[in-house]
Amino acid sequence: MVLLLFGPPGSGKGTQSRLITNWLGIPAISTGDMLRAEIQAGTPLGNAARSIMASGGLVGDDLVNETLAHRVSQPDCNAGFLLDGYPRTVEQAEFLDRLLCLRGFPKPIVLHLDVPMDALVGRMSSRRQCPACKRIYNLLHQPPLQTGICDDDGNALITRKDDREDVVRERLRTYDALTRPVLAHYQDNNYYQIRGDRSPSYIFEEITGILEPLIAKHSAANDR
Ligand code: AMP
Repeated sequence: MVLLLFGPPGSGKGTQSRLITNWLGIPAISTGDMLRAEIQAGTPLGNAARSIMASGGLVGDDLVNETLAHRVSQPDCNAGFLLDGYPRTVEQAEFLDRLLCLRGFPKPIVLHLDVPMDALVGRMSSRRQCPACKRIYNLLHQPPLQTGICDDDGNALITRKDDREDVVRERLRTYDALTRPVLAHYQDNNYYQIRGDRSPSYIFEEITGILEPLIAKHSAANDR
């Protein structure tokens, strides 16, 4: 099963990604996290991505596609995976179609977290992330148990550079211009729109309600 978690920056994709992949036991692949790791490691890809990410734009399709293709060729992806933050352009969506077909995967299931734009800026500027395990917190709705410290591994939480308000606004503009049109690519029976302006546990319940019958159908087909 291949899941695409779709939604604007700040819509809660990171949180749902963690809940879904813990539940299903498949890897979560976040192209944003992969690019940040490349920047930290000072690789040529990281160096190419650094200034683009700092300004809120999108890294080039070829670079991201290549990185993604390499990641999904790893053995832990054989039974399926979840993509968070990819595809972000129609070109990436077309590349993914070819990649999934080549690797014998069915069409992806698209979970679209829809949140009104005006709610997103506030949400993102109160966001904090653990630099080690990448868990996302929100100071308003999902604070850590101890201020500034990750519940899971005790590391000090950080504000990502691209969560600054001016960058957030640019990321939202980029989303509207380049990424929203990708949804048209997926308007078929594998597409589910979910209201993302509710509590994470409520959203997760809706997602499990969507996925459980699909998983049952899938395993019944495999048993035949
Ligand atoms: P995210 O953590 O998914 O919000 O991504 C943070 C930033 O990484 C984005 O604002 C882009 O600059 C870059 N990025 C992440 N995923 C992609 C992608 N699929 N295509 C192009 N740029 C990306």
